[in-house]
Amino acid sequence: MRTETPQPIRLSDYRPPAFLVDEVHLDFQLEPNATRVRSRLTLRRNGEHAEPLRLDGVRLKPVSVAIDGRPLAEDAYAITPEDLTIASVPDAFVLETEVEIDPEGNKALEGLYMSGGRFCSQCEAEGFRKITWFPDRPDVLARYTVRIEADQAAFPRLLSNGNLTQSGALAGGRHFAIWTDPFPKPCYLFALVAGELDELADSFVTMSGRQVELRIYVDPGMAQRALYAMDSLKRSMKWDEETFGREYDLDLFMIVAVRDFNFGAMENKGLNVFNSSLLLADPETATDFDYERIEGVVAHEYFHNWTGNRITCRDWFQLCLKEGLTVFRDQSFSGDMRGAVVQRIKDVKALRARQFPEDAGPLAHQVRPSSYLKIDNFYTATIYEKGAEVIRMLKTILGAEMFRKGMDLYFERWDGHATTVEAFIQCFADVSGKDLSAFFAWYEQAGTPKLEVDAAYDAEAKALELTLSQATAPTPGQPDKQPLPLPVALGLLDLDGEVLSFRQEGTLAPATEAVVVLDQARQTLRFEGVASEPAVSVLRGFSAPVRVVSAAPAKHRYVQLAADPDLFNRWEAGQDLARDLILARAAGEPDEVGEERFAEAMGRALNDQAAEPAFKALLLSLPSESDLAVISAPADPAAIREARESLRARLAIHLGDQLRRLHGGLQEAGEFSASAEAAGRRALRNAALELLAADPRAINVDRAVGHFQAAGNMTDAMGGLAALMLMGGEPFEQALTAFYERWKAEPLVIDKWFAVQARSPSEDALGRVLGLTTHPDFDAKNPNRFRALVGTFAAGNPARFHDPSGDGYRFLADQILAVDGFNPMTAARLVEPLGGWRRYRPELGALMRAQLERIVATEGLSKNVFELASRALE
Ligand code: ZN
Repeated sequence: MRTETPQPIRLSDYRPPAFLVDEVHLDFQLEPNATRVRSRLTLRRNGEHAEPLRLDGVRLKPVSVAIDGRPLAEDAYAITPEDLTIASVPDAFVLETEVEIDPEGNKALEGLYMSGGRFCSQCEAEGFRKITWFPDRPDVLARYTVRIEADQAAFPRLLSNGNLTQSGALAGGRHFAIWTDPFPKPCYLFALVAGELDELADSFVTMSGRQVELRIYVDPGMAQRALYAMDSLKRSMKWDEETFGREYDLDLFMIVAVRDFNFGAMENKGLNVFNSSLLLADPETATDFDYERIEGVVAHEYFHNWTGNRITCRDWFQLCLKEGLTVFRDQSFSGDMRGAVVQRIKDVKALRARQFPEDAGPLAHQVRPSSYLKIDNFYTATIYEKGAEVIRMLKTILGAEMFRKGMDLYFERWDGHATTVEAFIQCFADVSGKDLSAFFAWYEQAGTPKLEVDAAYDAEAKALELTLSQATAPTPGQPDKQPLPLPVALGLLDLDGEVLSFRQEGTLAPATEAVVVLDQARQTLRFEGVASEPAVSVLRGFSAPVRVVSAAPAKHRYVQLAADPDLFNRWEAGQDLARDLILARAAGEPDEVGEERFAEAMGRALNDQAAEPAFKALLLSLPSESDLAVISAPADPAAIREARESLRARLAIHLGDQLRRLHGGLQEAGEFSASAEAAGRRALRNAALELLAADPRAINVDRAVGHFQAAGNMTDAMGGLAALMLMGGEPFEQALTAFYERWKAEPLVIDKWFAVQARSPSEDALGRVLGLTTHPDFDAKNPNRFRALVGTFAAGNPARFHDPSGDGYRFLADQILAVDGFNPMTAARLVEPLGGWRRYRPELGALMRAQLERIVATEGLSKNVFELASRALE
């Protein structure tokens, strides 16, 4: 057991920094096991006070400390494993320190570490303190000059932020480079990369006519695989100019791909570092999903240059200020690139799969939290995805034009500063003249609101009364919830699917669509001039991140599935119908007639010539098992899987010929295209195959084998392999072997090979996963590989993870504890699947809880894992 409970850090305790840093000069003597870091900081006291100078620094080996050129006596300062304190310092001074660090031994992948023989840094959130002593907080902005020196043969490229101002050869086979970044930045945006890398070069002319050099650095031989990322980068730069008026500010923009990385990618100023899985792509090794993610993440990191770097966060509680906003920006970009509706559906699916479970469990937290132990634990779906939803609602409420004005004011007012969510919202209040104080509650209240919709139609008066009510269940630390201002976009259809116009009470002109903002617990709206009984299409485009509960009869949903002009709600109607049928079956009350009717309606929707293939592919994918688990209380993952699979089987049988025709007809000939249209056709073809896999007769098995064998790109190869995985047996084993043999030299592809096995529905899935942990290619020190196997099993295979024996839970706890020994950030990210224990059948919940207790009781546990596991138990 831990002897002392770590103390949380609170937003209410925020104090401005005691000292500011104007200039930072760093000098790196790079050696894998013993890198020397010399630092020269120009510091000044911030305000009138006599506090000592306290700098963060974690397990640094001190070499020397000097002030204004004079070495300090040993008793003039104190060093602990976490900081350096100098009791008495002048008001303005230069502090010089030298430390030694061990990048090779750093398996936490935070600070300066080695990946694939190269030096690489990761400083967000608090990694800079593992490199040198510094006030490691985002509100200390300084100008950096960085000198890097290393062996020239082993580390031919030396990169850091800003512009290269000098470089050259030195004696003894060494060389150096000096980088200067003219923009003051917080230390979490510092980056250094050194090693052998190939370069892909391009350039971009900005809207004011400046030429920016673009460079992507990758493993030797891989430059061609960065072409798509480069293209995405140029489109992002253009889009940000056109959409937000934001121009890039340095003369050089660099991206580096690394294989060992805890997260997706990092927006270091002028030197983004990417997990190679989110950068490298060619048709043979990457799926369309990978392409999509690369485009989105390249944009995300680039957009951070304004929302994150030029304007940064005052403290880490404000994380959503940069992340929620930047996710909103990258989602908008992807929507413009690939089609708004399809993008919206995918974003909502991701929100439901990751954020809704978080919000429904013990780890639920505010979009802007008010306390934490380890900020690393708050890089969550709530901060990112729900944070983006909050921005989207702001735009819906204010309108596009006013939203843009508010953004312009934000950029103008806060450029070069570290600021807060309040200051951001204030910009929109100022431009619109609106009081947005009630809106702010979206940042402060955790939990997913439930929106109840009740419609009463009066045929005689031709009037519709719509009662909307909202409620949010208690979350940890927040027992009482307030109503939130909730934008509800809506429209009406008659029962033949024709659009109905209406007049909202108090307005004169008839309309076909309206946005009402529900800001009470309950509100009744009256619509007049409604010609006939309507199906009410509410929450169009998913206008608020809520769970809709509606008493509307199934026939209304069928009308929507066939004809809702809001394509999001057309898709949603299919999801709702499927959800009700699956949950009825899981509860032991299958609605066979309803299932047949649903299959017929899906058949018609698939035949709709006007609908895009990408949209139809989404129609075919039923609500996920994890999403269904969140809404069924208590959840029984095995019953959910069985019910979901039997609905899929019914669809596969009922629509078999149609699906096989679709699958055959969409076969691609000619050259591969990564375009959204081509990807949409592949998605539909693979979705048809995936559905057919629910009916594992020879005719479908053979089709999947043929699909796999004929695949000319990774999307189809994985589509075939996944379908075979669902059907299991010899054909799957053979395909797995063939796949491994073909791709064993490609780590990113082998990650997929591990992941697909972790999702196997077969009884021995855990046995297989356990076996794979001893496979020579398994490496828990590589986060991609670890997550591909262990993360996919825990989060992507609920029925097997929640095995009644509890073996799945024990396996996960073992893995968390093993990885926590060297990489707490990655270990902590796997606690969540155990976190929802209260929502499961009590027998399961008790077993989950037992593993959490075992984790918390472990000696030497990291703060990261301790915080999540102990919160999960509360
Ligand atoms: Zn981000």
